[in-house]
Amino acid sequence: MKYYSTNGKAPLASLEKAVVKGLAEDRGLYMPERIEKMPKAFFENMSNMSFQDIAYNVASNFFGEDVDEDALQDIVYDTLSFDCPVVKVTDNIYSLELFHGPTLAFKDVGARFMARLLGYFIGKSGKSGLVNVLVATSGDTGSAVANGFLGVEGIHVYVLYPKGKVSPIQECQFTTLGQNITAIEVDGVFDDCQALVKSAFMDDELNKHMKLTSANSINVARFLPQSFYYFNAYARMKEKLNGNKLVMCVPSGNFGNICSALFGHEMGLPIDRFIAANNANDVFYNYLQTGQYNPKPSVQTLANAMDVGDPSNFARIYDLYGKSHARISQLISGATYSDEQIAETMRQCYNETGYILDPHGACGYRALKEGLKEGEIGVFCETAHPAKFKEKVDAILGADIEIPARLRAFMDGEKQSVEMSKDFADFKQYLMHQ
Ligand SMILES: *Cc1c(COP(=O)(O)O)cnc(C)c1O
Repeated sequence: MKYYSTNGKAPLASLEKAVVKGLAEDRGLYMPERIEKMPKAFFENMSNMSFQDIAYNVASNFFGEDVDEDALQDIVYDTLSFDCPVVKVTDNIYSLELFHGPTLAFKDVGARFMARLLGYFIGKSGKSGLVNVLVATSGDTGSAVANGFLGVEGIHVYVLYPKGKVSPIQECQFTTLGQNITAIEVDGVFDDCQALVKSAFMDDELNKHMKLTSANSINVARFLPQSFYYFNAYARMKEKLNGNKLVMCVPSGNFGNICSALFGHEMGLPIDRFIAANNANDVFYNYLQTGQYNPKPSVQTLANAMDVGDPSNFARIYDLYGKSHARISQLISGATYSDEQIAETMRQCYNETGYILDPHGACGYRALKEGLKEGEIGVFCETAHPAKFKEKVDAILGADIEIPARLRAFMDGEKQSVEMSKDFADFKQYLMHQ
């Protein structure tokens, strides 16, 4: 399978190149040349299949031509060593819990899959020399990528995060690891971190000095495997639908997660429509209403992993539907919520159902509560365990929620980070000395 760039001005790339380079030469995002429908029998049998088996079938559809069968199976089974349950919250709303992985966030799947696939290609090429992964994070990406790549030979990871703008629990998940993981604390906001990473990829001198790649959701090996979640969700929901239509609601920031769900839809997944739930960062919401895509600086919210003012994967969604606003807005609707609305939703859901939402999932739950029609059943992604945002969740609910042991273990580690300004010149100088 070949991969093309959404900007249309770069040569076609192999999967290996797309994974190693991350971004195409023309700064576009790679897209698979074909999206093949899964066979009918697969959809008929899938409620009897495990998450791992479903995922392996989907992975073969995308990567089967380019990765040896045994290796792909090993990568999928290693990545999905945990469950991905659907939990009933109200009569017609279910929570798809994507937070049972190593760092309790949905990005664990993409991060681990990418680390293993990159490791596979590095091993196969037989070339020596370190590959350096640069990743900008507003919180969860950093912990997922750092843990996914921890200890993978031949790869060093630099995690750039905005100083003081990620939760203490998130921060310790990527600043305490050591080994092949370096945390860089940037004096700025998430968009500054992302700009530093993008500039680094475009800098000739730096790229001659060291081999650079990305692990943000722009990488095909990060975002595509997230489609496994949606096939699994459908399999688990199939029996519960009783003739109702399935609506999938995805709390979105950089739009990698919902984009993978849309790829699933293109592969034949019977999801009737989608809702992209946003916090106060409403660029995509406004696009749906007006047809105009106007990026703007991000604003800080309670759901900080979705504080994105120019979602990178918009380019993929736009491309997938032939740049047609009509097609996009027919399939996807939007929602945007203030911090007050997020907090109110968390309290309401907790008091009425006992279910503890995290601030990101709360956007998804509320969008379904407000947007579901007669004859529809909604599933929203609960994208992180609420304990990852314990201070906020406790304050909002007036509770003292439990921290899972896996999360507590990170908090005992010692923070190590490198302080950095938001000027590219400083970042470049630092990397030139590595
Ligand atoms: C990253 C993240 C999101 C947003 O996902 P995108 O793929 O960037 O749209 C939502 N919730 C949580 C907890 C996240 O970490």
